[in-house]
Amino acid sequence: MNLRPCRVEISTRALADNYRFLSNLAGSAAEVLAMVKADAYGHSLALCAPAAVRAGARWLGVTSVEEALQARSLCPDARVLVMTGCFPGEGAAALRHNLTPVAWDQWQLDELEGAARSAGLGAGSVAVHLEIDSGMSRQGVAPEDLGPILARFGAETPLRLEGVLTHLYAADESDGLTDHAQLARLDEALARIAAAGLKPNWLSAGASATLLSGGLAQVADIAAKRGMKAMIRPGLALYGVAPQFVPDEPAAVTEARKGLKPVLSWKAQVASVRSVPVGAAVGYNGTFVATEPMRLALLPVGYADGLDRRLGNRSSLLVRGQRAPLVGRVSMDLAVIDVTEIDGVEPGDEVVILGAQGAETITADEHAGATGTIPWEVFTRIGARVPRLPL
Ligand SMILES: *Cc1c(COP(=O)(O)O)cnc(C)c1O
Repeated sequence: MNLRPCRVEISTRALADNYRFLSNLAGSAAEVLAMVKADAYGHSLALCAPAAVRAGARWLGVTSVEEALQARSLCPDARVLVMTGCFPGEGAAALRHNLTPVAWDQWQLDELEGAARSAGLGAGSVAVHLEIDSGMSRQGVAPEDLGPILARFGAETPLRLEGVLTHLYAADESDGLTDHAQLARLDEALARIAAAGLKPNWLSAGASATLLSGGLAQVADIAAKRGMKAMIRPGLALYGVAPQFVPDEPAAVTEARKGLKPVLSWKAQVASVRSVPVGAAVGYNGTFVATEPMRLALLPVGYADGLDRRLGNRSSLLVRGQRAPLVGRVSMDLAVIDVTEIDGVEPGDEVVILGAQGAETITADEHAGATGTIPWEVFTRIGARVPRLPL
């Protein structure tokens, strides 16, 4: 039981609507994997993964085997793609629970092959998705280094090359030049894979930005040319938020943005209200000093809950449908808002940290803008102690 009034509400209906919207946007061009890594971007895997599956998702994307096991217990029939693959000792669990690991290094294939042989699995029974480094220099194998990796997928090994993926690292740049260069590198990798006599089924590239901007068409073309099925992996858009594009937003994104519904609301309640005289210091180090006689409301939420400390004196929350500035420093477990201009605020009043109240909305983009980060980080920073409740 959690009675401290600080909670996140999740609309699984909005999430399902977003999945169907994205799926329609992809049309017949691609399978839409629902990215639910990092506890569904802080939205709760337990609530979101089953909702995505009910809305039609056949594939879920998670970071680790640990997350994948949780996804597996929630969604027994979904394919679960493990984006950062299996670490030493995790192969057996991955196989036992029918997870689909991404791999790009020899040691990852050693782990899987060893586990498969110990389990007595036959040739080609373990599906692996191979990551290509098409330019991000993060994970993946460069096209020219594929030889020794492809040699691991011989006829007698339990490993089967089921998919090929890459990550587009500048899909939010509206000129599309980096995508173009990366997809050319990806195609080079596919030529080598075909030359090695391997026929993977899936070609997976692109995230929210690619899907919303219409960039999927290029991925689908390459897949079709190689006789593969395209797969796209949106995360942020599934939670109702479109990435910001630079230098300007393509018209397709502006249009698609309208179809997305926010899934998460973060709420607290006023704990107490006090009046302070002009000159009163507020919070640690008195970084805010009352400029007039003021009314302040105390909230049971702090940076330990994921309310960024840098939002103090820089942002507002909603109470009684109006914006109330966060004043002074955000403490670990508490924050203070200025309600001088808002009539009748009292203990128990609902405060919206992220989400809508009345005609006003506070978005993850707004918090991200005030703290120099991105909405992905705002969501994933909401603390584990804040309960996620279905709406
Ligand atoms: C997180 C992630 C995605 C989803 O990205 P969004 O921008 O949130 O849609 C897709 N692919 C990979 C490899 C990722 O790590």
